[in-house]
Amino acid sequence: MAEKLTLEVVTPYGSVLSEEVNEVVAPGSEGEFGVLPGHVPFVTTLKIGILTYKQNGSVRYVFVNSGYAEVYEDRVLILADSAERAEDIDVERAKAAMKRAEERLKKQENIDFARAQASLQRALTRLQAAEKIGKR
Ligand code: ATP
Repeated sequence: MAEKLTLEVVTPYGSVLSEEVNEVVAPGSEGEFGVLPGHVPFVTTLKIGILTYKQNGSVRYVFVNSGYAEVYEDRVLILADSAERAEDIDVERAKAAMKRAEERLKKQENIDFARAQASLQRALTRLQAAEKIGKR
């Protein structure tokens, strides 16, 4: 059985990461799931959340904005609508997006509620991911 997994995170904007890792925990639509090398293959949808992976004793965090995960024995492929490593998150941009979404939701009239809610959730989750590595 393989001892490592290849984790790939791909978005329409390009490849976010491709790394050899020991363990992945991803935000599945039905709840978080963990993957170790040798996992039974499956496919699932993802929700907005934070993907965590372990690599040689350190833990790393990646924001993922919905999409799909394909799990194979030696590989996890994440196809997300957008994604950033915690290190690459622009905190000021996420704060601005959060404010915009909050203001839209406050006004209530003539807004696409679900869209504003999703935007707020992306911003809040990006801020949480950044905070995990001490960015605020
Ligand atoms: P915004 O309103 O700030 O554009 P958004 O949630 O609408 O945010 P997305 O549609 O998820 O943005 O992503 C568009 C592109 O911008 C993607 O490449 C994504 O990685 C990048 N991106 C969005 N917000 C941030 C951020 N705070 N830091 C770094 N990259 C970001």
